[in-house]
Amino acid sequence: MKNYKCVLFDLDHTLWDYDTNAAEALNELYVHYELHYKSSEPAEVFVKNFTEINTHLWDLLDQGKIHRDVIRAERFHRVFQSIGIDDYALSLKFSSDYLDVSPKKKNLLPNAMEVLNYLHPKYPLFIITNGFDEIQGVKTTSSGIHHFFKSVVTSERAGSKKPEKKIFDYVLVRYGFRPYEAIMIGDNLSTDILGAHNSGIDSVFFNPQKVVHQTKVHHEIADLLELKRIL
Ligand SMILES: [Mg+2]
Repeated sequence: MKNYKCVLFDLDHTLWDYDTNAAEALNELYVHYELHYKSSEPAEVFVKNFTEINTHLWDLLDQGKIHRDVIRAERFHRVFQSIGIDDYALSLKFSSDYLDVSPKKKNLLPNAMEVLNYLHPKYPLFIITNGFDEIQGVKTTSSGIHHFFKSVVTSERAGSKKPEKKIFDYVLVRYGFRPYEAIMIGDNLSTDILGAHNSGIDSVFFNPQKVVHQTKVHHEIADLLELKRIL
């Protein structure tokens, strides 16, 4: 077991159960906005289409191909169009409500709380996320995990996003750690794992779906509890 001195976590899809929380918020808003009167598609299709469109837009954002404002302005417009509703003004209103409702959802990935309780007395913990500053803090607070972390570092605050080295350095330099003393845990190969690699930091790929890949990672886990054998 290597002697790490700090542990870096991704937030969305690693600790905070993005898919479940998004689905809860979307189902509530689907009813609130009476979309069943405006579209022939059921809420399940709406949620499924959101996941596809949202994942695609976030991939583009992570690759630096679009600005974050595009996600806010376009995401629900496209989802609405996918279920046959062409109403840009309504999509913006929906988007604003979604950004209010969704981060307040509390679902965590299985065993997240247990593993944070285990790690918290042993290591300083940090979150490094490409999410928005005013959103990510709400998520950690509402899901009851905020107190575990010395800092929740967003790309906005660091002025850099994963997989760039700068956002990892932002934490290491500020808190006095060397890259080899840190370990990064995340679900995304092209941001979390590549970013850790770019920064000389060991990585743990959290891969609950057991997706087949060719990327070289230091550790791979399908359940967060497996961190207990690494840390
Ligand atoms: Mg993630």
